Amino acid sequence: MAASDYDVAVVGGGLVGAATAWGLAREGCRVALLDEGDRAVRASRGNFALVWVQSKGLGLAAYAGWTVRSSNAWADFAATLKEETGLDVCFQRPGGFHLALSERELEARATTLKRLHNQPGIVDYKTEILDHSQVAKMLPDIGREVVGASYCPLDGHVNSLRLFRTLHTAIHARGVKYLPSHRVENIVREEGEFRLTTTQGEVRAGRVALAAGNANMRLAPMVGLEAPMKPERGQIVVTERLRPFLHHPVVTLRQTDEGTVMIGDSKEESLDPTGLTLGVSATEAERAVRQFPLLANVNVVRTWSAIRVMTQDGFPIYDESETHPGAFVLCCHSGVTLAANHALTVAPMIARGALDKTLVAPFSARRFHVQEAG
Ligand SMILES: Cc1cc2nc3c(=O)[nH]c(=O)nc-3n(C[C@H](O)[C@H](O)[C@H](O)COP(=O)(O)OP(=O)(O)OC[C@H]3O[C@@H](n4cnc5c(N)ncnc54)[C@H](O)[C@@H]3O)c2cc1C
Repeated sequence: MAASDYDVAVVGGGLVGAATAWGLAREGCRVALLDEGDRAVRASRGNFALVWVQSKGLGLAAYAGWTVRSSNAWADFAATLKEETGLDVCFQRPGGFHLALSERELEARATTLKRLHNQPGIVDYKTEILDHSQVAKMLPDIGREVVGASYCPLDGHVNSLRLFRTLHTAIHARGVKYLPSHRVENIVREEGEFRLTTTQGEVRAGRVALAAGNANMRLAPMVGLEAPMKPERGQIVVTERLRPFLHHPVVTLRQTDEGTVMIGDSKEESLDPTGLTLGVSATEAERAVRQFPLLANVNVVRTWSAIRVMTQDGFPIYDESETHPGAFVLCCHSGVTLAANHALTVAPMIARGALDKTLVAPFSARRFHVQEAG
């Protein structure tokens, strides 16, 4: 049997695939990273760049623990990337806010967090409900309509485009073979190796890790796996650069390291990444001005939409194939937040040839069958 070209072929060069490929290379694997190239529809280029913990895990307590783990590993992850590439991804974790514009919103927020933290097996981390004056101490420019907020010290943000570039720089430096314009059309397992038919010929590898975002839905069944997805569109508005005023990210609004303000958090069923719904941008902008009146006369310089990589229940899928040993799938919304876990925890498992039971038990796609049976 000829030796495979690579130890692992990672399919998908977005943030999930690139972080996983970097982690695998650090474990000494020979890695190929196959992608469709820069014309691809990529959530990794259109996201809001939060490293966000509060409100994660309602309905799946393990997701809260997994998210807290990544948030706690992020600073080391960013520092190691800087060491290897000299590039700073501008990670900050000053704590984050979810602002409420009415007593009713604040009550609903408190109820949601109480339900989240009362779940059996939930990891213990701090979130608190603050009133207007307490919020104003940390966010002095809030408007009178802000009645309060939930605050979590584990929340932060990053420059996600710089993260994307830094990961690709890091994998190049570690000898990962990046193969853009290599769309995978088919995958078979023969004689103990995977043969991936791409638009640019065949690639052979001992293992395969599917990190192709929503396209995992089509690819996973080729290797005896499943990835039931329910993509949705999000829209983001970006302002001109402003003096630094917002030193904490808000779940719908953050000031970037470049001074611009990003406003986002819409959900539409559309799958058209080129379309924009003006009414959605208007609603986002209107709420932002009520939260921070100083934004009222600020210029919008850009707005875009992007398709979220969303599983059917919104929680990540990490799974390994029983019928095709050596095949793995990773798909998640929050691929910025979870990047530290993908590089530092999931990749070493794939390098060892098996995912830990503690990861598969809560995050395997088999849960959808339980839900169907329920
Ligand atoms: C509007 C919006 C806001 C967001 N905000 C945040 C946030 O604040 N914080 C956060 O943590 N996350 C956020 N996310 C989510 C985050 O962007 C994604 O979780 C992350 O980018 C997912 O990356 P991915 O690599 O799985 O998918 P993508 O970035 O979509 O990459 C998938 C890659 O797979 C490749 N591919 C597909 N099919 C094939 C094939 N057959 N062969 C080869 N390659 C293939 C594509 O070319 C693409 O490059 C947001 C997403 C959106 C849309």
